[in-house]
Amino acid sequence: AGGDIPAYAARLNDPQKDAVLTTEGPVLMLAGAGTGKTAALTARLAHLVAMRKAWPSEILCVTFTNKAAREMRERVGGHIGPAVEGIPWLGTFHSIAAKMLRRHAELVGLQSNYTIIDTDDQLRLLKQLIRDNDVDEKRWPPRQLAGLIDSWKNRGLNPKDLDAVDNETYANGRGQEFYRLYQDRLKALNACDFGDLLLHVLNIFRTHHEVLGQYRQRFKYILVDEYQDTNQVQYLWLRLLAQERKNICVVGDDDQSIYSWRGAEVANILRFEKDFPGAKVIKLEQNYRSTPEILGAASGLIHANSQRLGKELWTELPKGDKVRVIGVWDAPEEARRVGEDIERLEREGAPLDEIAILVRAQYQTREFEDRFIQIGLNYRIIGGFRFYERAEIRDALAYLRVIAQPADDLAFERIYNQPKRGLGAKTLEKMYQYARAANMPLAAASLQLADSDELPKRAGNTIGALMRDFLRWRELETQTAPAELLRIVLDESGYSAMLEAERSTEAAGRIENLSELARAMEDYETLGDFLEHVSLVMDNDSSPDEEKVTIMTMHGAKGLEFNNVFLPGWEEGVFPSQRSLDEGGLASLEEERRLAYVAITRARRRCTILHAANRRIYGQWTSSIPSRFVEELPEEFVEKETTMSGGASLWRANWSESDDPFAHVSTNRSGTRGPGFQRALSGSYSASPAVVKEPRRSAASFAAKPRSDIALGARV
Ligand code: ATP
Ligand code: MG
Repeated sequence: AGGDIPAYAARLNDPQKDAVLTTEGPVLMLAGAGTGKTAALTARLAHLVAMRKAWPSEILCVTFTNKAAREMRERVGGHIGPAVEGIPWLGTFHSIAAKMLRRHAELVGLQSNYTIIDTDDQLRLLKQLIRDNDVDEKRWPPRQLAGLIDSWKNRGLNPKDLDAVDNETYANGRGQEFYRLYQDRLKALNACDFGDLLLHVLNIFRTHHEVLGQYRQRFKYILVDEYQDTNQVQYLWLRLLAQERKNICVVGDDDQSIYSWRGAEVANILRFEKDFPGAKVIKLEQNYRSTPEILGAASGLIHANSQRLGKELWTELPKGDKVRVIGVWDAPEEARRVGEDIERLEREGAPLDEIAILVRAQYQTREFEDRFIQIGLNYRIIGGFRFYERAEIRDALAYLRVIAQPADDLAFERIYNQPKRGLGAKTLEKMYQYARAANMPLAAASLQLADSDELPKRAGNTIGALMRDFLRWRELETQTAPAELLRIVLDESGYSAMLEAERSTEAAGRIENLSELARAMEDYETLGDFLEHVSLVMDNDSSPDEEKVTIMTMHGAKGLEFNNVFLPGWEEGVFPSQRSLDEGGLASLEEERRLAYVAITRARRRCTILHAANRRIYGQWTSSIPSRFVEELPEEFVEKETTMSGGASLWRANWSESDDPFAHVSTNRSGTRGPGFQRALSGSYSASPAVVKEPRRSAASFAAKPRSDIALGARV
C-alpha cells in the first residue's frame, strides 16, 4: 500500500486502510458498532473508482437503506468529484433487484413496466384467492398466508420447491397451491410483490446463464454493508454474482443481527470464510462514535447474550454523561418528558437533526407525534411508508398506477368508486366476471362492459365516462410533468371536490397531504420513475431543509448515528416485546437484546432510556415493570432518575419474586437470565467491572469474549 494517501483514506486507521487497499479477493470486515465499517466500505468504493480499478457502473454496492445509499453516493462524489455521475448499482437489495428485473422482466413472464404491489394490495389479492377457493378466511387468514409466502420467498423457494412440511402450514396442505395461485395472479396483473424482486432475479440467474454471465462480467467489485442481516435469497443472489471474480467485500456485526424475523441468517456472515476460502478477515476495534459511558453500557448489556463471537471495543473519546434511565408514570408523561428534554437541548444549541427517538414498535410513535404537534416541535417519522400509507395518498397513487399500468386491477379496484360514483359491489362483481371470462385486465374489461348492455344504463355510463377519463389522462402522461398530471387527475376525477365539500379539518389535512404528494413528484421526470420511487422508499423526508427530530424504529435506525438518542418504553412486554417473551426461546430474547445494543450504540454523546409504570395496551391500563435490559446495564455507566409519579415502577422492580404479580413473566425470565443478570440484581455486576479492562489508551476498553470463557465477576 505505499504512496501518498488520498483524501478518502487519510483519517482511516490501519485495519480500515487494509480493507480499502485489499481490492482483490474476498474480504470480510467483522466488527462492532461504530468502528467505521461503513466508513471503510465507502472509502473502498471511492478508492476503486479513483484508482480506475473499475468504472462506477462496474461496481455493485448494497446498503441497507436508501438513505445509506444516498449518503454513500454523496460521499464518494465528494471524494472523486462530479466526473462520476452517481454509481448506478449502489442501492438496497430491493432497488437493485427491481432495476435488474425491469431489464429482464419478460424472462419471468412480466412486462418491464410491472407494478410493485405493497402489503395492502397483497392482502386484498390473497383474500380474493382464499374466497374464490373455498377456504375459511377466519381460520386461515390472508395475513398468515402473506407471511408464509414472504418467508418462502426469503428462502429463495418457488412454489415447486416447497416440501410437504411447508405445504402443510396453510389450509391443511394447500400452501403450495395457494402460493402458485398467487404467483399466477400476480403475473396476470403484470405485478410482483417485494419478495418477488429478488426471487425473480435469482430465478433468472439460475435459468439463464447468459444473463448471469453478463452481470458477472459487469460487476468487477461487489461491496455489501450490514451483511449479518442478509436472508437466504439475498445470500444466494450475491453468491451467484460473486462466484467468478470473488472480489467481494462484506461488512457486518453479529451482535447487530436483528432481522431474523424477516428471514435473515447471521450464519451467512459466519460462513463467509467457508464460502470464499482464503478470505481476508479484518477486525476493527476502535469505536469512533460513542462516549465511553455509552459504549460501556452497550457492551455490558450485550454480554448477557450467550450466542456471540465476542469482540473487543474501545474508544479514545473523552468521558461524557452517563446513560440516563428515567422512570415515569405513563406514556403521556414519557412523551412530555422527552419533549421537555429536547426543548432544553435545543435551547443549549443542539441541532434537532442530531436528536432521535427510537421505538421498539410503530404504535409507540403516536404519543410523541401528538405531543410534538402540541408543543410545535418539528419532527419526522422515518420508515414504514407512513406518509404513503395515508388513505388519500393511496387513492391518488392508485389513479396514477392505473394510468401508468392499465393492467393494475388492484389499483383500479381501489378507486373505481372513489369518489363515490354510485358503483357498488355488484357492479364490481360484474366487472370481475367479465374480465375473467374475457381474460383481460379489469380496467380494459370495464370499458367493453360499459359499451355492452350487461350493466344498468347508469352504471354503464358512469364506467364509460371514467374509462374515457383514463384514456385521456394516459395520453396526457407523455406530455405533462407527473406533478401536473396528478393535479389534473385529482380535479377531473372529482377527488379534490369531494374533499373540499367535506369542509372538515381532517379533509383540509388530506388536501395538504395531496399537495405534499405533488411536491414530492416534482423531482421526477416520468410517472414511472416516481411510482417506482414510491414503491421503494422506506423513508419520507419531504422538506429536508428544516431541522427536525427523528422518530423511527430501532430496526430502521441500524447503521445511523445521532448525538442524542431517546429510547422510550423499556418495559417488560414492550421491550423486550411481549412476543419475544411469549415465544420464550433464548434466541428471540437474545435478538431483542441485540436490538437494545443497536439502539444504544446509535448515540454519540447522550443516551436516555425511559420506562413508564403504567401503559395502556389494547385500551386497558396495565402496570408494567422496567425492562430486564435496564437491569443489565452496568451501573457505573448509568444514572437512574425517577419522577415523583414514576416512583412506583422502580419500587415494583425491587419486589422479590414471590411478591411479583407478574409471576408468569418471571418464570419466563428465570429461564433466560444469565449469570450477568443475576449479578446485576445482586449488585456485584457493577462492582466488578470485568467487562471494562483498564484503559488501553486514553479511555476504557471493553473486552467481550465468547460467553464460554468469560467469568464476568471473576476475571478481576
Ligand atoms: P454500525 O455498526 O453502527 O453500522 P460502523 O462500523 O458502520 O457502525 P461508521 O458509521 O462507519 O461505523 O462510523 C462511525 C463513526 O465513526 C462515523 O461518524 C464515522 O465518520 C466515524 N469514523 C469512522 N472511521 C473513523 C476514523 N478512522 N477516524 C475518525 N472517525 C471515524
Ligand atoms: Mg455501518
